[in-house]
Amino acid sequence: MVALLEVDREELIDRLTGRRICDGCGANYHVEFNPPEENGVCDGCGDELIQRDDDDEKTVRERLDVFDENTQPVVDHYDDEGELVRIDGHGTPGEVWKALHAEIEAAT
Ligand SMILES: [Zn+2]
Repeated sequence: MVALLEVDREELIDRLTGRRICDGCGANYHVEFNPPEENGVCDGCGDELIQRDDDDEKTVRERLDVFDENTQPVVDHYDDEGELVRIDGHGTPGEVWKALHAEIEAAT
């Protein structure tokens, strides 16, 4: 079994462009899903939060295009083999894990 976690392109772009990283300690935040107490400031060390150069929207779109190009042949292969299981990747990490876990249980 090969699991494919599927998320809409626009949702992925929201997730990736919203990432912020602490310049001091490297802690990860997200402006929407995991914001710090104070906008732009690390909860842990108080340093400034920055956006990585490759998390800007144009670069994210290019990265996703490259990912799709490289991944589609692999997806097609396992789909042809009947091994591919598509998992809805929207929702919370807990919900996605639950769906994935159910598929693993069903396959073993
Ligand atoms: Zn920090």
